[in-house]
Amino acid sequence: MQLIEVSKEANLPTKFGDFKIQSFREKKRVGDEVYYLDHLVIKSEELPKIPLVRVHSECLTGDALQSLKCDCGGELEMALKKIAKEQGMVIYLRQEGRGIGLFNKVNAYALQDKGLDTVEANLELGFKEDERDYSVVKFIFEFYALKQIRLLTNNPKKIEIFKQMVGVEREPIIIQCNRHNAHYLEVKKEKMGHLL
Ligand SMILES: [Zn+2]
Repeated sequence: MQLIEVSKEANLPTKFGDFKIQSFREKKRVGDEVYYLDHLVIKSEELPKIPLVRVHSECLTGDALQSLKCDCGGELEMALKKIAKEQGMVIYLRQEGRGIGLFNKVNAYALQDKGLDTVEANLELGFKEDERDYSVVKFIFEFYALKQIRLLTNNPKKIEIFKQMVGVEREPIIIQCNRHNAHYLEVKKEKMGHLL
């Protein structure tokens, strides 16, 4: 069962530019439990016919705490800057830690401190390497009547998934390496097929 509720649209001025913000509340049921995920769309005031789109999964440590363990914070910042300039949207999905949640992600980080890589750590905790679910994105594309997008990504899996929803042209996203995330980016490239 999946139901999506759409909030009003509001202004969101940021250091990157003035955006509009809207929330999409996804109701999910797992077994007997019902829970809600409040996703976000941060968009330019006007959307061109073929907008730039970044689908970003929440990473509290990278996005808010500016962790150097991953490239999420830098990717989000670059996406917001580009969207302010070229018009489009960031679809911000509340699926932390590739879908395993913040608590489990911290446990995965502890395993990484012992030498496991990001994929091995998720598997060790009993999760798939990537538990993310993008079904709400189809609803969001339809809500804004998007038929064709310029997708800001290095992830071929995302291209495949979104190609089933809209026409997709890829725009690469280039992030600087640092000594903490160099290995993480290597694993993304080698094990997850990212186009880096
Ligand atoms: Zn991250």
